[in-house]
Amino acid sequence: MDLVPASIVDKIVALHPISNDGNQDLMMWLPPPPDGTFSVASAYSFLVGFHDIPRSHLAEVIWSWKDSDHCPRCPLTKTALHACRDCPLAHAMWKSLFQIDDSHHFFSMDLPSWCRLNLQCSKIIIGVVWNLVFGIAEDSLWQCRNILIFENTDTDLPPLLHEIAAKCRSIAKGLKGSIQALFRSTQPNNLIIRWVFPDFDWIKLNMDGAFSSSKSLAARGGVVRDHHGAFIFAFS
Ligand SMILES: [Zn+2]
Repeated sequence: MDLVPASIVDKIVALHPISNDGNQDLMMWLPPPPDGTFSVASAYSFLVGFHDIPRSHLAEVIWSWKDSDHCPRCPLTKTALHACRDCPLAHAMWKSLFQIDDSHHFFSMDLPSWCRLNLQCSKIIIGVVWNLVFGIAEDSLWQCRNILIFENTDTDLPPLLHEIAAKCRSIAKGLKGSIQALFRSTQPNNLIIRWVFPDFDWIKLNMDGAFSSSKSLAARGGVVRDHHGAFIFAFS
């Protein structure tokens, strides 16, 4: 066993010995799954050599993740607007950041109108123009939901607000108002947006979704790449 690599031993063990019982030969699929069942996924994995690469914990979590129609934080049905604005943590966050109460029309607008309001607002909060705060807050909120789903750890409002304020102050200090002027401008701006490589030995999942309210259809998809930017897998 010390002289032959374990992967070779496994392949030898997987070979069926010649039998004398006179049965017909059968077509067998040797790569995983080991029950001989063929699938496109196992063929692709075998051809690109993924079966020899141990999966990371994160990949196992992603592959075994079961989505649900219900919010992971409260008993209400999960919608984009619920996740972004109406879930209890999000609701409390916006009330505190935007300095409004429950009766404000901020909480009764539909999704397109609500996005338009936030992206066009030039109110200054924590030294930063609101439409920039809006993006920072949504990003922090989304990270909180990921931590809740994948690590089963909920986030309290005070640390979330603290994190958003720290990011806003850092941006306000670092960019010295240049990007704020950009966001305040009513003229179209050309911004270069590109994919950023994850840290060494990490993988990155980029995903997006779309919903048609007129047809009640929704779709989503994603792609996972390694720290070289090489494709690992995708889903839709
Ligand atoms: Zn909720």
